[in-house]
Amino acid sequence: MENRSRRHFLKNAAATAVAAFVVRGRRAQGALVEAEVSATPQKIGVFQYGDVKLLGGPLAQQFQRIHASYLSLNNDQLLKPFRHRAGLPDPGEELGGWYQGPDANNPGQCFGQYLSGLARFAGATGAPATLNKVKNLVNGFAETVPPNGYSYASVQASTFAPAYDLDKTERGLWDAYRWAGLADAKDLLARVVKGAVPYLPTRAYDQYENPVQSPADESYTLPENLFFTYEATGDAYFKELAQRYLLDKSYFNPLSEGVNVLPGLHAYSHINALSSACKAYLVLGDDKYLRAALNAWDMLEKTQQFASGGWGPNERFVEPNKGLLGESLKTTRNSFETPCGSYAHCKLARYLISFTGESRYGDGIEQIIYNTVLGAKDPSGAGQFFYYSDYHDSAQKTYYWDKYPCCSGTLPQVVADYTVNCYFHSADGLYVNLFVPSEVTWTHGGQSIKLTQNTAYPEADSTQLRLQVDAPAEFTLYIRIPGWLQSPAKLSVNGKSAAVSSEPRKFAAIHRRWQNNDTVEVELPFTFRVQAVDEQHPNNVALMWGPLMMVAVNSPITIAGAALSSTGGLSRSPYTNSQFEALRGPDKIRFKPFYQVNEETYTTYIQRV
Ligand SMILES: [Zn+2]
Repeated sequence: MENRSRRHFLKNAAATAVAAFVVRGRRAQGALVEAEVSATPQKIGVFQYGDVKLLGGPLAQQFQRIHASYLSLNNDQLLKPFRHRAGLPDPGEELGGWYQGPDANNPGQCFGQYLSGLARFAGATGAPATLNKVKNLVNGFAETVPPNGYSYASVQASTFAPAYDLDKTERGLWDAYRWAGLADAKDLLARVVKGAVPYLPTRAYDQYENPVQSPADESYTLPENLFFTYEATGDAYFKELAQRYLLDKSYFNPLSEGVNVLPGLHAYSHINALSSACKAYLVLGDDKYLRAALNAWDMLEKTQQFASGGWGPNERFVEPNKGLLGESLKTTRNSFETPCGSYAHCKLARYLISFTGESRYGDGIEQIIYNTVLGAKDPSGAGQFFYYSDYHDSAQKTYYWDKYPCCSGTLPQVVADYTVNCYFHSADGLYVNLFVPSEVTWTHGGQSIKLTQNTAYPEADSTQLRLQVDAPAEFTLYIRIPGWLQSPAKLSVNGKSAAVSSEPRKFAAIHRRWQNNDTVEVELPFTFRVQAVDEQHPNNVALMWGPLMMVAVNSPITIAGAALSSTGGLSRSPYTNSQFEALRGPDKIRFKPFYQVNEETYTTYIQRV
């Protein structure tokens, strides 16, 4: 394997030099983040982390808490399994759990994700302490990697889930290179990937194929980051490697033809694999991969999602039309693998928005953030992390039974990504996707433009957008009109009603020559509605308030159907400045948005009688 790697390297050396120049040229011009050196143009661009700032509200608060939590991880402890393997001094206690220790089946497995999350926080905030931590972690890790690029923390790590570990380490180094400006991380990235190849299977295996080598592994998620490595290095070897791990036969081919092959599959990793399809579409230009991802999103929406937007009870997709989501409410408390699932979901949605310009994918981002990961219990600081959302009766938010699980790796990534979910940009304007106190700066027609958003959303159902321009600028402001809306949205510019279409599940488009301090007001009236868990359980319903899934607190679980409406006695009742609940008449049944539940017992699906 090593010889073959060397042949590829030499064969491509000349091409590499040329391609690397192109990569640098494109980057210097501020090309699209997720589309650098891509064959297929995107309609809409994803912002870079530093372009958007969160200014307040629940998303910003969680962003700050999670940033601080991962900043406080001890570098020696994070590097310990790698230093131990390299025979270097390895001070610090073992972290335990999945990370290191006698019971760790996959030592060091989240290192790359912690690095990735921190690099994104560094990119988003420019915080010197975070930049410094990323640098120290990369340097410390580099010291443990021998010339042949072997980077696994142990023999166990290189045999249990070599593809999973490589995928995460690779992304961590790429993010450190890209968002923390560590040029050295790029060379290390290339070396680490080449060093891992001898430990990978020869092609992508789905888990049910039960490959002899590492049956629990997720080799089918490798291509996305291998394509990023190809773009970063210009080395076609990584492009060929990415193509080797595309799960065409059993997954992308049937999905591209509309065949629903999701049932039974491991949920998170197969949604994550769809990002590989999206990246393959960008780099290879084959629209089979686009069709596979678009069709899978449809299947997800129509057959797999709970009211929260989460999916995959017990981490598996269900057979459609058999009432299995409803059945799962009685049989498991592992309803949705929250940090990992929401991370993969939002990443996929960003690709699909960028390809199609359709707001439905933005709806999906809003739904899953507010109703799943925003409600994740904060890390304990002692290695305990939130993993599953529980939609069983009388649930409580708990930590996973073992320390440092996979969801500890995706949590900082999905939360740092809140910034890049808020806005998108195109040649003709700006897309407002999330309603969050925030500001975004971008360039249009050669001038820098800033939009500041003021809102108490989702604790209020309106937002205000103010533009700052040095000179009048003509462009379109696209505003997502959510699919859940039941009464008309209202849009106004400088106090005057905007005469534009504001159809739900579309972007409203306000085109004008914008002046400094022009202000757009947006009202999105929240209403109560109920959503059945599936067609076979029409009376097992979740209560929704605008974008929010409301859960019954300390609840009885049977309610007369007519009571679950405004006319039946439900009313919104603010009880502090930042929180609210819905009260149900004299019985005082309290509902809260899932994200505001702390230690209380709650019930997500109410039995309607
Ligand atoms: Zn997980």
